[in-house]
Amino acid sequence: MGVTQVRRLHRGWQTIPHLHRRGISILALLVLVVMIWPTEDQGLEAAVYLPPELSHLDALNGGFLPGNFTEERLRERLRGEGMAAVQIDSSPYDVDTYEISSGDSLSGIFDRMGLGQTVMYQILSADESLLALDVLRAGHRLKFYKHPDTGRLERMELYVHAGYQVAYERFDDDSFEYEETLIEGDWPQRVIGGEINGSFYVSARGAGLSDREVAEITRLLEDSIDFRRQIRAGDTFDVIRAEQMINGRATGRTRIEAIRIHGHTKRSAFLFEDGNYYDEKGESLQRAFMRYPSNQRYRISSGFNPTRRHPVTGRVTPHNGTDFAMSTGTPVLTTGDGVVTRVENHPFAGKYVEIQHGSRYTTRYMHLDRILVRHGQSVNRGDRIGLSGATGRVTGPHLHFELHINGRPVDPMRAEIPMAESVPDDQREAFEKRVEELLLVVENSNVQYARQ
Ligand SMILES: [Zn+2]
Repeated sequence: MGVTQVRRLHRGWQTIPHLHRRGISILALLVLVVMIWPTEDQGLEAAVYLPPELSHLDALNGGFLPGNFTEERLRERLRGEGMAAVQIDSSPYDVDTYEISSGDSLSGIFDRMGLGQTVMYQILSADESLLALDVLRAGHRLKFYKHPDTGRLERMELYVHAGYQVAYERFDDDSFEYEETLIEGDWPQRVIGGEINGSFYVSARGAGLSDREVAEITRLLEDSIDFRRQIRAGDTFDVIRAEQMINGRATGRTRIEAIRIHGHTKRSAFLFEDGNYYDEKGESLQRAFMRYPSNQRYRISSGFNPTRRHPVTGRVTPHNGTDFAMSTGTPVLTTGDGVVTRVENHPFAGKYVEIQHGSRYTTRYMHLDRILVRHGQSVNRGDRIGLSGATGRVTGPHLHFELHINGRPVDPMRAEIPMAESVPDDQREAFEKRVEELLLVVENSNVQYARQ
């Protein structure tokens, strides 16, 4: 299982020197203990500390598991496990955890935790190039590490799910920096099939596919099949859906790997290793992306740069997108077909839109003057989604444009984007092998319904 840690801390570890004295093996034992610790033991006041360099283990365990042990209870547990000789340290911080419920706002949570709005804005500033805190959902958790004497917030962690965690670590008196942990885990496949009665939408939802997945399937096939006229009662479908699992827990992330519709009209789609969908003949099913989010090319005032110095704060802050010098009011276009997943107003990123293009690609458009789409809306490549502006923390009007592939920002001017081409000749063989594998998965599944 792959673990990617993206470090944005430049001297974070060194500020807590005594942590370095600890042996990794002891920590591994703590983690082992923590993994088998019953959940009702959580919520105790003093905590045993799992240092940042091992926080991915925390994430692997669903987060929060090590944070809330008293030293006494841990010693007791270690004795019970025959590990009494293991030396443990108490956390150097006071640790509080907070599980987000629907309706919670970040500022409300900061008030309730007695932290105040100044420190919240410092964290939001660090989050500007990530925007992970903009979509807090019920079930996400926050963990606060406060200095035991001053009560000052030294570190905050956000657990979205076992595969995604962000830590904000204090950098100096005024600022924080983020560190992102992404864990790929396993993606077991499941075949979901059914007979179509009524509409494809209703039947696919009934078989267990989500709204988003049905929309993605419809979008992939809509150019080659008319879902209203060419699908008839009794036609059947199979979908291979892979679901991200980390240590046996589902994170909620899924991806569609194959689609087959059989009946009066036969259609298939297969996800290839290049991240694009093709039909059985290897013809692309995805519409091409545009490189530029505008009708004409504008001057790039600041390129994608993971180690850029921020023009306003002067600190090293990754620039996760491309800035185009556009005067306020210039139409901003979505570079691909997709669904609007965010319409937000951030104190630093300004008014912005996020669009998801299938399970692999996401784009963001920031500092807009006006937003012309709403959350959940379907958009087609080239649609106007807003007008550029200078909202948020900016030195002047411009469009900040981001492209993410599999959750990672990439250089939008250089990244490989879907170009609606067929499978290249030198990858033909690999593609045919992939199709064979996927068809075998469908054949070997025990999906029960009448096949024609
Ligand atoms: Zn920018």
